[in-house]
Amino acid sequence: MNFPSDLEIAENASIQHIKEIAQKINIDDDDLEYYGKHKAKIPLSYIDKEKVQQSKLILVSAVNPTPAGEGKTTVSVGLTDGLARIGKKAIAVLREPSLGPVFGMKGGAAGGGYAQVIPMTDINLHFTGDFSAVEKANNLLSALIDNNLQNKKNSLNIDPRTIVWKRVMDMNDRALRNIVIGLGGAANGVPREEGFNITPASEVMAILCMSEDFDDLKARLGNIFVGYTFDRKPVYAKDLKAEGAMAILLKDAIKPNLVQTLEGNPAILHGGPFANIAQGTNTIIATKTGMSLADYVVTEAGFGADLGAEKFLHIKCHYAGFKPAAMVLVTTVRALRYHGGAKKGEYEHPQYEAVKKGMENLRKHIENCIKFQLKPVVAINHFSTDDPQEIQYIIDECQAMGVKAVLAEEFAKGGAGMEELAAEVVNATENYGNDFQPLYHIKDTVVEKIEKIATEVYGADGVNFTPKAMADLKVIDDLGLGQLPVCMAKTQKSLSDDEKKIGRPSGFMITVREFEFAAGAGFVIPILGDMMRMPGLPNTPASEHMDIDRYGNITGLS
Ligand code: ADP
Ligand code: MG
Repeated sequence: MNFPSDLEIAENASIQHIKEIAQKINIDDDDLEYYGKHKAKIPLSYIDKEKVQQSKLILVSAVNPTPAGEGKTTVSVGLTDGLARIGKKAIAVLREPSLGPVFGMKGGAAGGGYAQVIPMTDINLHFTGDFSAVEKANNLLSALIDNNLQNKKNSLNIDPRTIVWKRVMDMNDRALRNIVIGLGGAANGVPREEGFNITPASEVMAILCMSEDFDDLKARLGNIFVGYTFDRKPVYAKDLKAEGAMAILLKDAIKPNLVQTLEGNPAILHGGPFANIAQGTNTIIATKTGMSLADYVVTEAGFGADLGAEKFLHIKCHYAGFKPAAMVLVTTVRALRYHGGAKKGEYEHPQYEAVKKGMENLRKHIENCIKFQLKPVVAINHFSTDDPQEIQYIIDECQAMGVKAVLAEEFAKGGAGMEELAAEVVNATENYGNDFQPLYHIKDTVVEKIEKIATEVYGADGVNFTPKAMADLKVIDDLGLGQLPVCMAKTQKSLSDDEKKIGRPSGFMITVREFEFAAGAGFVIPILGDMMRMPGLPNTPASEHMDIDRYGNITGLS
């Protein structure tokens, strides 16, 4: 018999009323804001500072991934179920998916196999409308900018050629990357070049995920940098008096969404910023809500730990004051085959020699976690194509480094395949002596911060800055943003800035091409390569295989 698809498993699961899930974490029925029977929003009043201090945050990250993903979400969901099975009160706190990838490349983002969050179709489609709200708030600011150009009376003297703020839409649509707006004569706006990003790339999404409450949200929205005046003065969203109205549009999106795992354990999905040009993790509010409601919170930071965990630790922990109690590094045998030089078409077959070489990538990530004073537990996300000899090799090599590696069988077995990992994670929170320390000081200069990340985390010899990057650094200083954390924008495929450098590269420099900054979200963005902000659809979009029948049953969503 073929293994059922993610959708088949999700549709056949017995789903509980969301109020029953809420009861397990002591949320009053009446406090929930229901979106049908299986989704609900949790009011902000459930954040309890003292409980946030006591709860144990478990950070899940990974080796440098292959394009298929190594299963961080799947492992995070399975680990939550595993913790529940060994008697712990646990909750998964994760991102909510963007529509773009759902119709483009295969794959939603709600886990897989027997480790999923449900209702799967709702989560992958419009869910509770948070992405739409972010889109509207973003585009309100765009409309206000263009209205200001049109309406001389209110003029801020904005130079239209300097406007960096773009419209967004939650769809993969490359034809919108570069467009001209305002055509059609004097009554129809001021013509200028514009473009669309996909909604998760909006700074509004990054801000929503960084905010503590409405006041913080408004302050951050007001600090969004729009462009310059003709006499080179910066213009911010607050100059357009935009932040109040933008925050109104986010009045529900700011509240975390409660759903459930296939095994009926609570999961909060909230916010979904890009992981390349933004921080890439769920809202701070959701993490704090989870920590207020459960003893263990499992959360994911992608892509690999060099980007995901580094940003989580240096940006999110900085703003929210989090200190992870345990760190889980997901690896797959497949990824190590890839890092060991296996070629396309060979990843799915045993490659013992390649795994031995590819182990260097995992080894570097383990060393990096230890630099942050977080000794990791390695989760080997088990695929049916793994060979026992390859698995044993990884376990032995980790043991030689003093690190425990555990086979994670959530995909095929759900929580039952995760009890050993769950027990080791609990052990880590109690006995590993984790005491998270950032690698740079927030007062370090932007250049020092980047150099520390490059040399310590990536293993680079140093950092080159192009003339453009040097000029941008001056702008960052002039705008008073030099004391913000940095949000590195580089390929996820390599520890270096060159995606072809697999394994554990050495003897390389990285090059910062230019900088962007998110003055509202609160970080500067060194750009190390070409960063995608509006994906396109592939030759055969996943949408071609999707359908809905006369009873409303959906097929082809994965
Ligand atoms: P990540 O969060 O690291 O990007 P996901 O958890 O979303 O990865 O998993 C990526 C894809 O791989 C999903 O389609 C998921 O169903 C699939 N997957 C994850 N783990 C396994 C596994 N052990 N066996 C088979 N497929 C898996
Ligand atoms: Mg994921």
